[in-house]
Amino acid sequence: MRTLEVDYLVAGAGATGMAFTDALIAASDASVVLVDRRESPGGHWNDAYPFVRLHQPSAFYGVNSLHLGDDRVDESGLNAGYYEQATAPEICQYFSQVLEEVLLPSGQVTFLGGHEHAGEDHKGHRLVSGSGAEVRVRARKVVDATYLHTELPATHPPGFEIESGARVVTPTELVDVVGDGPLAGGFTVIGAGKTAADTCTWLQQQGVAAADIRWVRPRDVWFLNRTFIQSLDLTVPMIEGLAAVYTAAADAEDLDDLYVRAEATDQIMRLDREVEPDMCHGATLSRAELELLQGITDVVRMGRVRRVGVGELVLDQGTVTTRPQEVHVNCTTRGLGWAPPKPVFEDGLITPQPTRYGMLPFSAALTGFLEATDRDDQDKNRLSHPNPVPRTGSRLDWAWAVYLGAVNEVAWQREPDIQAWLQRSRLNISRAVVEHLDDPHLQRAVSTIASRGRGAVDNLRRLLADDQ
Ligand SMILES: Cc1cc2nc3c(=O)[nH]c(=O)nc-3n(C[C@H](O)[C@H](O)[C@H](O)COP(=O)(O)OP(=O)(O)OC[C@H]3O[C@@H](n4cnc5c(N)ncnc54)[C@H](O)[C@@H]3O)c2cc1C
Repeated sequence: MRTLEVDYLVAGAGATGMAFTDALIAASDASVVLVDRRESPGGHWNDAYPFVRLHQPSAFYGVNSLHLGDDRVDESGLNAGYYEQATAPEICQYFSQVLEEVLLPSGQVTFLGGHEHAGEDHKGHRLVSGSGAEVRVRARKVVDATYLHTELPATHPPGFEIESGARVVTPTELVDVVGDGPLAGGFTVIGAGKTAADTCTWLQQQGVAAADIRWVRPRDVWFLNRTFIQSLDLTVPMIEGLAAVYTAAADAEDLDDLYVRAEATDQIMRLDREVEPDMCHGATLSRAELELLQGITDVVRMGRVRRVGVGELVLDQGTVTTRPQEVHVNCTTRGLGWAPPKPVFEDGLITPQPTRYGMLPFSAALTGFLEATDRDDQDKNRLSHPNPVPRTGSRLDWAWAVYLGAVNEVAWQREPDIQAWLQRSRLNISRAVVEHLDDPHLQRAVSTIASRGRGAVDNLRRLLADDQ
């Protein structure tokens, strides 16, 4: 049995483990064993449905040391006018390249793909391969880059009963169903989040009429407007968006008022003006995607699906008659599963979590950088308040995201080494602000953020006090 002695054992070679390791070894000479039960890095992207893309631009996703994509603004399609978003195969190939061209050549990283991290005993951490062979690792610290529990329809069974003969598919299987030719029965998309939105969008792009799509939405969702999640040449609108959010947060009289103000400035968007959303999972939409999705008018709001039968759908609050040949697409998994916030830095254990809302690789990379500094754990945690996606599973998640995001940003502003790191980090959405300092729109927005930021934090703390 092989035993390896290293500084860090990083469990999980998804985006979190990869971004953490890349930033850690860039800032230190630490040695790392990176382990994953999958053979290749990239985590859940290896199992993603074929038409998935990043929610954010590739321009600030991945790791710091290697570009993802070409920093190109799309000229056509539903993402026109915004930076390109990588597909799942592009992301997987990218992470393999990161491994082969950055991590392994550093001489600091050993990758053990196809190994399960199976716990620890007095001989060290047990890493077990598919054939049962064991490797032992003794490490100064463990990095749990498996904590965020990403769920995908392809790997999670449906939470409802399916009658024999009823057609229920995952988004991955849907691609083959549609490819097989015209269908008589139409489609029912089950789920309210981004996977369901992606599926409804993709179906329409394949020529399925909106009238042939039924959308079961147990709850409605606040989506983030992708206009304001841009970088580089589109930095100015992004910073103007942040100024609008801080202004809304500083001026809001209560939480209802906060959401009214945020929607009025287009920061958050909903599918149906008549229905108040009650959750936010940080998913983004372009205006064009929103409008396409709004074309689907057969929306079922009768709670969760309990049973898919042949010719009927049984929900919490009633039954809907369906066409016998109807294809049901199960989009009910949560994407990011519920992982309760916990300290990022503990004795011998690091648990990377989002510290900038919805931006996991950025957050993991900053955690890797902080770990390489000589701060103690208490100080590192002061700079790393987890900003989970989702936090409470309620509509308050967006308000919490703004509050916790502002708390971290304010803390980072006072640390010169973090400021310098932010300036050179390709994962930092606002790294190009310095290139736009002559723009009067940017100047106005920056001055709004400076003057309203403190008030926004104080007011949000007051408004969210009952939810602590
Ligand atoms: C459709 C979709 C779009 C998204 N778009 C964005 C986006 O635009 N921007 C963004 O920041 N985030 C986005 N996300 C969030 C996304 O989940 C993260 O960006 C990131 O990919 C999560 O990576 P992770 O490493 O935390 O988890 P995972 O990808 O789940 O990786 C965890 C890894 O740990 C391994 N593992 C688990 N347990 C063990 C064990 N015991 N032993 C060995 N290995 C183990 C798994 O095999 C896996 O490879 C999106 C998510 C989805 C579902």
